[in-house]
This record gives sequence, structure tokens and C-alpha cells, in this order.
Amino acid sequence: MKYFFLSAMGLPYLRSHTSADAYRHKCFVCGKCYKTRSKLNRHARYECGASRNQLQCWVCGRMFSRPDNLRQHECLHAMQRL
Ligand SMILES: [Zn+2]
Ligand SMILES: [Zn+2]
Repeated sequence: MKYFFLSAMGLPYLRSHTSADAYRHKCFVCGKCYKTRSKLNRHARYECGASRNQLQCWVCGRMFSRPDNLRQHECLHAMQRL
């Protein structure tokens, strides 16, 4: 079981590694950055339509709405490693 389901607690967000950047909460889906996690959560919920549980690639964190799309995407990662 490779699929990783985000719970309601785990809305998609990324923390940038650049500490100088004040906007360190980044949206997985569209790449927008926010100062606070709450703002990003609100964005994900209302603006980006990412509030529903989705499938996430365990390699790069990209989100998918359908399992077959994720499986196809993971095949690309497998090929890159060869
Ligand atoms: Zn977004
Ligand atoms: Zn990926």
C-alpha cells in the first residue's frame, strides 16, 4: 500500500527550507505561499479546492484525485531511478 491519504488534520502544505523567506507555508497544489499555516489552510480549503482527502505521491508530495493517476505518476519516479 503505497498510497498516502491526507487526513483532515493534514491539509497540504510545505515549509520552504529557506529561512529568509517569510512566506514559508507553500500550497502543494498551486504553489502559492503564505505567512501562516492558518492562512494556507484557508486557501487550500476555499480557494484551491484541496479540502477533500486526496492521494499524495510519497516521493514528491504531489496530490492526485484518482488512484490510477497516482500509480501512473509513481511509474515516472521508478523510471527516473533506473
Ligand atoms: Zn493552492
Ligand atoms: Zn511524485
